[in-house]
Amino acid sequence: MAAEQNIWSENKKICRICLHIDPRALDMFKSYYEERDTLYCDMLAYCSKVMVNMKDGLPPYLCRNCIAHLIDAYEFNLECEETEKNFHWLLTILD
Ligand SMILES: [Zn+2]
Repeated sequence: MAAEQNIWSENKKICRICLHIDPRALDMFKSYYEERDTLYCDMLAYCSKVMVNMKDGLPPYLCRNCIAHLIDAYEFNLECEETEKNFHWLLTILD
């Protein structure tokens, strides 16, 4: 079977993260976090050590619950980086 062939049912979408079946799950390679205009697959790669690839043969779906966790984790990471940047900038002007 070719790796790119989708063996994961559109009707029984199994979540790549928690293994739950959620008919409302989204394909992480096609769905965006609109506020940041960022694909969920890129957010997952950014927030975890999981390497996701459209052709890895694993389920492409994320359930709604895991998407909510992913958005929290992504926003938390961005906030950490932004604050770090701001502190470094502050140090340069206080020097
Ligand atoms: Zn899930």
